[in-house]
Amino acid sequence: MPKAQETVLEIDLKALKHNFKYLKSKLKNNTKFLAVVKAFGYGSDACEIANCLQELNADYFAVAYANEGVALRHAGITKPILVLHPQAVNFKTLIEYCLEPSLYNAKVLNDFISIASAEKQTNYPIHIKFNTGLNRLGFWENDVEYIASKLKNTNAVKVKSTFSHLAASEDLDEKEFTLSQIASFKSISENFTKAIGYKPILHICNTSGILNYPEAHFDMVRSGIGLYGFGNSDKENKHLKPIATLKTIISQIHNIEKGESVGYNRAFKSDAFLKTATLPIGHADGIGRQYGNGNGFVTINGQKADIVGNVCMDMIMVNITNIDCKEGDEVIIFDANHTAENLAKNTNSISYELITAISQRVKRVLSK
Ligand SMILES: *Cc1c(COP(=O)(O)O)cnc(C)c1O
Repeated sequence: MPKAQETVLEIDLKALKHNFKYLKSKLKNNTKFLAVVKAFGYGSDACEIANCLQELNADYFAVAYANEGVALRHAGITKPILVLHPQAVNFKTLIEYCLEPSLYNAKVLNDFISIASAEKQTNYPIHIKFNTGLNRLGFWENDVEYIASKLKNTNAVKVKSTFSHLAASEDLDEKEFTLSQIASFKSISENFTKAIGYKPILHICNTSGILNYPEAHFDMVRSGIGLYGFGNSDKENKHLKPIATLKTIISQIHNIEKGESVGYNRAFKSDAFLKTATLPIGHADGIGRQYGNGNGFVTINGQKADIVGNVCMDMIMVNITNIDCKEGDEVIIFDANHTAENLAKNTNSISYELITAISQRVKRVLSK
């Protein structure tokens, strides 16, 4: 990649391919792979990511909301797309774009059946989500008979998959809880299969589930963060490659004398001479205010430069007192070595939050 001349997010499709292959190598040959590309492909570029993975034969895609699925269809994605959290107002759009809803309670099930019937659909693919302990979305174990009775009265829809979501698959201290979720999913899905009279695809694992619970891969796994290069543990991070590099440049250098302040609210006041660099990236680009006042840092010519004072909307200032650099030099916010996970840790955040926060204003650049 050439040196940055403005703030850019570079997306390395080779690293994506590497991560996909690594995660696939954890699966049995016939286990399907669903790639989660919600939230702009975890802040990267959902359409490019999905197109690359479609070529590599990923079986399924998932997004959170309907409009994300529509964007994938416009970008040429023809594989099935699961919409994890659809809203009734978008059900007609889902059908128009052949997007498959996750249905998680009686209201959305009945709303979807009504709309699919009105649209004269037969066997429209739906996915039934069960709650096994995350307590976020999902039918309960004792809803099985109710769902089955609703399905018996219509041919507008057909259950393509039954799934659940793990609450703490990355946390081995919660292994007992996770195993109980897996056991409960097994028993619910067996009852459900009996009740509806055919076997849907079963799936429960996210990335950490894939890595930590091979016995729970069932028929399909759903991976997001792993594809983007994070394994939620030092051990797994070694096998994965972060696909995104966030870079910027030095716009201006200032000499700050003792007693002067830097930035809004004069949050930083110097007690000795320092040199600062102003960078064209701020909270509107996804570097939240929590990274200000020394909680976040960047890397310039291989050296760490702390953020000085408050993060502005469009800029941050960093301390370069001991760094040999000049205006126009490249600055790394995060890359494969100075990882987003590491930077996020400083503010009690996680890789997921930092990478998905990089706003659409930041130019995406692909390397293939
Ligand atoms: C986001 C999401 C995933 C992906 O999880 P990762 O930890 O990123 O692999 C899987 N399943 C559901 C239901 C999700 O919402």
